[in-house]
Amino acid sequence: MIAARVELCPIRAINSARLAPVAAARVLRLVIVCGPKTSPVTAAALAADPRLSFETVPDGCWTLTDRRTGQQFTSPSDDPERPEPADVAYLGRLPRPDRKGTFLLIAGVHAIGSLGAATYLAENIADLYEQASTRPAGVDTPCPHDARWYARALGSRLVAELSTEPPSWIAEAVARAIDTVATSHAATCPIDDQSHPSATIAILRELPDVYEYYILGDSTIVFDTAGGQLTARSDKSLSRVATAQRARVTATGYEASERDSARAELVEAERAKRNVRGGYWIASTNPDAAAHGRQGHISRRELSRAALLSDGAAAAVERYELVDWRSALDLMEQDGPQAIIRAARDAEDSDPQAKQWPRSKPHDDATAVLCIAERHSQEAG
Ligand SMILES: [Zn+2]
Repeated sequence: MIAARVELCPIRAINSARLAPVAAARVLRLVIVCGPKTSPVTAAALAADPRLSFETVPDGCWTLTDRRTGQQFTSPSDDPERPEPADVAYLGRLPRPDRKGTFLLIAGVHAIGSLGAATYLAENIADLYEQASTRPAGVDTPCPHDARWYARALGSRLVAELSTEPPSWIAEAVARAIDTVATSHAATCPIDDQSHPSATIAILRELPDVYEYYILGDSTIVFDTAGGQLTARSDKSLSRVATAQRARVTATGYEASERDSARAELVEAERAKRNVRGGYWIASTNPDAAAHGRQGHISRRELSRAALLSDGAAAAVERYELVDWRSALDLMEQDGPQAIIRAARDAEDSDPQAKQWPRSKPHDDATAVLCIAERHSQEAG
């Protein structure tokens, strides 16, 4: 965040075309010109800024204060003895109160300060983007919360949300969990779907008469029913976006120098399609993603076994075709769920250059859970 002094010289017309170059157009979907004086929403968003506060001081003037040094920036035009034709303004990117990304806030102590900050932005946007990228401007340390932290935080929140009596709707519980976890670090980290860690979700919940299931993203649930039928459910929307970029990565050898740039392009292309219409939906910061999960139920009398697998574990069946789903479930029941992950890892280790199975990375994160229905285990035992 920037506290800028603005001299009240004649201000040139702002060339709005200059506000939309580079990646800024995608990152800055919402620009607000409004101070905390007139908007409680703006005041609440400003309160989350770790660098600058925008509050009244005892003499009644509005002041920008550096939270670390205590340095205050008051408007020279408010000086009671020698008022000067100048103003100060706030310019920064903040988490949106609805947690759907970030927004750019421009707020002068007086209106002319806002105009000066907008002019400054128009003339320096390339430099500002280079320094701040997609992080909230002014936050020196990037978000320390990685995918591992996110999966753990979201998982434990989900268990709490799904353990209520009476049971809540799964999609609503997922939406609340996504929102709660994003909020937990919104004050210090960039909370937008393009840079935030993300996770797929696979849930199987036991209720008195049925098992309810829910899948968000490309995790898979395989049902083995009493009639001997196997059904696999997943959402492969991710594989249908950024196909050209993914093909370029898989066509590039692991040691090729252009691989890093191809992977960066793939990540950017995938992120642009994350949690937007026509893209793919995943748990990140947008609670609306929860409504796009696939859900259903299966009678308790019907189900004998179910396996929940992340993409990296399902690869043993779907990508490497080492075994079919029945053999995979048998293997997991006999040697534990880790056996299917081990099978995938062995295949990947046998193909270190990704020649036999073209893929974007040597190994994918892998999680596997096997559920054996009570009736089935009683019969088996
Ligand atoms: Zn964080």
